[in-house]
Amino acid sequence: MIPVTKTFLPPIEEYLTHLQKVWDLKWLTNRGPLIRELEDKIKDVLRVKHIIITNNGTIPLQIAVKLFGNHGEVITTPFSYVATTSSIVWENCKPVFVDIDPDHLTIDEKKIEAAITSKTTAILATHVFGNPCNVEVIETIAKKHNLKVIYDGAHCFGVNYNNTSIFNYGDVSTCSFHATKLFQTGEGGALFCNSSELYEKLFYSHNFGHNGPEDFLAPGINGKSSELHAAMGLTVLPYVNRIITDRKKIIDYYLKNLSPGKLKVLKIREGTEWNYSYFPVIFESETVLLEAIKKLNESGIFPRRYFYPSLNTLRYLNTQKMPVSESVAQTIACLPLYSGLEENDLERICNIINSVL
Ligand SMILES: *Cc1c(COP(=O)(O)O)cnc(C)c1O
Repeated sequence: MIPVTKTFLPPIEEYLTHLQKVWDLKWLTNRGPLIRELEDKIKDVLRVKHIIITNNGTIPLQIAVKLFGNHGEVITTPFSYVATTSSIVWENCKPVFVDIDPDHLTIDEKKIEAAITSKTTAILATHVFGNPCNVEVIETIAKKHNLKVIYDGAHCFGVNYNNTSIFNYGDVSTCSFHATKLFQTGEGGALFCNSSELYEKLFYSHNFGHNGPEDFLAPGINGKSSELHAAMGLTVLPYVNRIITDRKKIIDYYLKNLSPGKLKVLKIREGTEWNYSYFPVIFESETVLLEAIKKLNESGIFPRRYFYPSLNTLRYLNTQKMPVSESVAQTIACLPLYSGLEENDLERICNIINSVL
């Protein structure tokens, strides 16, 4: 069976070395030494100013929307994972969708200003498959209209833009360390920001609002991760460059061997050092996509329709049509991509897809 992804697991002995420290100290959570060590190491590796590791990649979105959304309208993309939209709704804000750029698949920055009203409080956009949004234009619009910018960077571990981590853009950026993501701690995620003042707010928000053991500054939630998850992160982190190199090789193979012209691939924004986190292909129609998926499944190969459906079509929302996002969501699939995926399997995948094109 060839799934769309397989979690990278380092040698278990290395994991046990980190776990041994947990057993020695009997300190399992509440910001123990391993979480703090992992935060420091990630700060060094990615060159970011502030990080708070959280228990998944959704809680950071909810915390950011809680702090910035103010029960207003949040401009967002319909082409993302459901957590982007549901976090806005969960925090009693209204998602206002802006369609996407058909090449980069990120929010179409040219259409943002038309969606701004007196109720708009923030923009929450996704760096889709690790491909950065047009962060310069979005920053200019946000400044002009006094809006906060949140980036869902769930896919972005290791992505640089203009020689700096993509997490350095926006007021707040988030990441996911879920088992299916490039860098994983089982479940996990993070908040990133540049402002020290904002860091304090995000920090107490992810820890019940605590300001010392018996003082609470504001309402908060439990967004903490544990030492057991941090042990996984410390074990996987040294392998991140290898994981990225492995993926690049596979994507290069796909690009070389899939029939050109009939499939559309993601256009990476200029100035990006990409992490090769996904390999999405866009078929000419949903019929061809479904035919390809059927043939692949018959051979035990399981690509994933991702992202699907377009989020403006969620049954609990009632919003306007988003033609580009809906069309892309109906015709896109991510192909298998993970360390250890072998060349003979890649050859089979390419042959099957080429045969339906
Ligand atoms: C995975 C993902 C999330 C959610 O992250 P979790 O760690 O699973 O909570 C949010 N947004 C996007 C774009 C994702 O791909």
